Amino acid sequence: MKLVSACLAGIPCRFDGKAKKHQTIAQLIEEGKAIAVCPEELGGLPTPRIPAEKQGEKIINKNGIDVTKAFEKGAQKALQIALKNDCTEAILKSNSPSCGCGKIYDGSFTGKLTNDDGIFCKVLKENKIKIYTENEI
Ligand code: SF4
Repeated sequence: MKLVSACLAGIPCRFDGKAKKHQTIAQLIEEGKAIAVCPEELGGLPTPRIPAEKQGEKIINKNGIDVTKAFEKGAQKALQIALKNDCTEAILKSNSPSCGCGKIYDGSFTGKLTNDDGIFCKVLKENKIKIYTENEI
């Protein structure tokens, strides 16, 4: 079973209230080969929400509020779903402070990227789950 970022499956859970539907990923869900999670919603954050980016070890939203705890809580909840469903692979939305893998927004809210993993991606890697982004499938 694969785990996928819910926004890629077509669920409108992004900060702006929209989805980023990827046809192949949506099809995996339809065929019962993948399950969708949104760690930010699982952490209790509303949709739409103020955009947030990683600054050092913290996640700070555009209003300067520290939302690290919600991100961490959501990552742990989503990890439990992955483990319960024996997921060995995940396809995660690129560049996100939660789901991004290898490159994420740099904390300046200017669209620039830095080499790092999002909080959820990091937790999955620690649990030996292989990560791909939507750009690699
Ligand atoms: Fe998509 Fe992940 Fe952001 Fe949720 S946390 S909207 S699944 S990129």
